[in-house]
Amino acid sequence: MILIDGKKAAAELRAELKEEVAELKSKHNKVPGLTVILIGDLTPSQIYVRNKEKSANEVGLKSEVIKYPDSVEEKTVLEKIQELNNDETVSGILVQLPLPKHIDKQKVIEAIDPSKDVDGFHPMNVGNLSSGYESSIPCTPLGCYLLIKKIEPNLSGKKAVVVGRSNLNGKPMTQLLLKENCTVTITHSKTKDLKAECLEADIIVAAVGIPELVRGDWVKKDSIVIDVGINKTDNGIVGDVHFDEVSKNAKALTPVPGGVGPMTIACLLKNTIDCFKRSQI
Ligand code: NAD
Repeated sequence: MILIDGKKAAAELRAELKEEVAELKSKHNKVPGLTVILIGDLTPSQIYVRNKEKSANEVGLKSEVIKYPDSVEEKTVLEKIQELNNDETVSGILVQLPLPKHIDKQKVIEAIDPSKDVDGFHPMNVGNLSSGYESSIPCTPLGCYLLIKKIEPNLSGKKAVVVGRSNLNGKPMTQLLLKENCTVTITHSKTKDLKAECLEADIIVAAVGIPELVRGDWVKKDSIVIDVGINKTDNGIVGDVHFDEVSKNAKALTPVPGGVGPMTIACLLKNTIDCFKRSQI
């Protein structure tokens, strides 16, 4: 079984991006800039943002974090986004989710200029992705896609099952696999026989949030299994896939942690650089 090493793949991607940033700097005499807005003091969000800033600096991006207290008014955030939309030194804007209840998430997402939407959540980017046009692609599914392509460069005609239909993961993942000419089944909480669906799959991407949902006898031999889940349990962090069981059948499997997670941040940097490149045309 191939253990898909997300840490290694992310380090390789960051190294490539670092070179690209250096080339862009010598060509344009400026570097792409990422601005993250962090609202409140949720510990996981603070850790994510710190890691994003560290990785951005590592590849040579200009990075900035704007912090607001939980009590910040929605209007203040929307005005700041407008200011960043108009700031030529800012290539990418990310508002760390979740937001406090009094702030309308959709309003915030739609306030970001689609050409600077490094999370790929703006309806314009969602539409472009599903129409097969160039767009920012949500970072986690993009990371999954790059890992799958490392194992199997030609996905044409493969059967893929995506478990979970969130806007963050399942739906964009489905679009990426469709674009590669996979036959994709998207499954969710109302799917009647998830095991039977998974048993058909050459590729399974599980993004559910249920610890070890996908079992060893759900996957056929030689399948590629990507585990997006991050679930806190009494036995530590586990994915949505039963690692020990599935590793006995699958051709390739991502571990949790150390699989999809590290790719997510590397893809955020990639998206920032891609936004910058599109803005220079
Ligand atoms: P979500 O809660 O928004 O969506 C979960 C999806 O799973 C829903 O579409 C639901 O219909 C489906 N579902 C629920 N029960 C099901 C069942 N029994 N069978 C089949 N489908 C079922 O979750 P999300 O935001 O997509 O996150 C999923 C997981 O991925 C979570 O564990 C989250 O922590 C993790 N995550 C990881 C990363 C990363 O970087 N690795 C990034 C984002 C999310």
